[in-house]
Amino acid sequence: MFTDSHAHIDGDEFDGDREEVIERAQAAGISLILNVGTGDPHSGAFERAVELGKTHEPVYTAIGTHPHDARLYDDAAEEKIKNLIDNEHVIAWGEIGLDFHYDNSPRDVQVEVFKRQLRAARECDLPIVIHTREAEAETIEILQSEYEGAARRGVFHCFSGSMELANRAIEIGFMISFSGIVTFKKAEELREIAKQVPLDRLLIETDCPYLTPIPYRGKRNEPAYVVEVARTLAGLHGVELEEMGRITSENFNRFFRL
Ligand SMILES: [Zn+2]
Ligand SMILES: [Zn+2]
Repeated sequence: MFTDSHAHIDGDEFDGDREEVIERAQAAGISLILNVGTGDPHSGAFERAVELGKTHEPVYTAIGTHPHDARLYDDAAEEKIKNLIDNEHVIAWGEIGLDFHYDNSPRDVQVEVFKRQLRAARECDLPIVIHTREAEAETIEILQSEYEGAARRGVFHCFSGSMELANRAIEIGFMISFSGIVTFKKAEELREIAKQVPLDRLLIETDCPYLTPIPYRGKRNEPAYVVEVARTLAGLHGVELEEMGRITSENFNRFFRL
């Protein structure tokens, strides 16, 4: 039993074979997929993501405005998300955060929109999914100022940060999710960090269609391949593959209160 804690299967990369992708995942033992709806909040993308979750039993949904699209976030977008999360298959607000690598939205706008969505998620009593890239200090600082004392916590998704960020994340009660990056040859440092994350804070994800794990590099990524992420983490922690699948699935269910 495995849980893909972060996938993007509502996108057009999967238009040709979405049903088969979900079937292949189930055949590989993936019993739950958290599909994360992103994109222009006014484009209908969030509605599509919510619809996918409603119509597919193993699929749960998160929606939120990605830092890339922060410049498109406004009152109407916030209202729309609040209305859409009024659905039992929507279990998180995200992905939200800061991406100072691509800078697709101006940094001051990213910061402002991150803060607004943290407040909104808190109002709605939802956990959050965090995307942070080359903005570690800023992310922690904002979480401390805007999210301190919030009843729900969050996930640092596709973790590729420093040991220091991992420690801070653990300290403030957050989960750490590893993607296919942890299987890459050059990711020695990240594997060192993954080894030190306590078992009860670990999640696994594909972030598909991106970041395909070894040995599927070069192919489109899909939820079935999350088993390879579990395999690497199992090796690092000295547990069986199935055990790592069970641990990360139980972590997911406990954290999201399923
Ligand atoms: Zn992300
Ligand atoms: Zn993502």
